[in-house]
Amino acid sequence: MLRLEDVTIRQGGFRLTANFALSRAARVAVIGPSGAGKSTLLGAIAGFLPHDGIITWTGQALPDDPGARPVSILFQDNNLFPHLSMLDNVALGLKPSLRLTMAERAQVQDALARVGLEGLDTRRPAELSGGQQSRVALARTLIRARPVLLLDEPFAALGPALKAEMLDLVADIARDTGATLLMVSHDVNDARAICPHTVLVADGVAHPPRPTKALLDNPPPELRAYLG
Ligand code: ADP
Ligand code: MG
Repeated sequence: MLRLEDVTIRQGGFRLTANFALSRAARVAVIGPSGAGKSTLLGAIAGFLPHDGIITWTGQALPDDPGARPVSILFQDNNLFPHLSMLDNVALGLKPSLRLTMAERAQVQDALARVGLEGLDTRRPAELSGGQQSRVALARTLIRARPVLLLDEPFAALGPALKAEMLDLVADIARDTGATLLMVSHDVNDARAICPHTVLVADGVAHPPRPTKALLDNPPPELRAYLG
């Protein structure tokens, strides 16, 4: 269980509070107006932002070092290195030195296969479509094999068909690995598609997760204002 206990994050004049828990293997969307604090929430869980209160995983406070947290995070900006092959771009998630053992190399190839990119290991990002680049970035996130997967509007730049494909892939992977998924999206249909629960971030509060369908079918005022 990932638990945020009386968490308050401050950035300049901005303040966000959170007090809730996510069960293991939960798939949870994060929605809310632009600037409401969705990325801030993920940043605190990933260890990039200081906060009051405590965040625990399976009852233990998370370590200060982001690299030591049971968390991997994927941003919209896929952050691929143009001069590196797909294999190396994914391998970076495992070993920044890129000096892989045979077993690690096989692990990278497995991750590429898992996202449907088998056999493209030697290509560079410029030789791939936008959808394929998203898959590589997802593979790099997966290879860290962390139990908490944070996605911050990862597929916002993709067209609808590709995005639907990527969402299905993320849902499959989360099911297979039992990862706890927290996914920011500005499209509430993404939440409906793969996240049974949703955290609404609005008015300085990251609210406890609620069933997505009930929340969207009968939105509270702060969500109604955002949905328009
Ligand atoms: P969202 O992801 O929901 O669009 P963010 O989490 O990026 O929103 O930002 C939440 C708020 O935090 C913003 O309204 C902004 O005022 C503030 N903020 C974000 N980054 C910084 C920063 N580096 N310094 C000061 N304030 C910031
Ligand atoms: Mg954001």
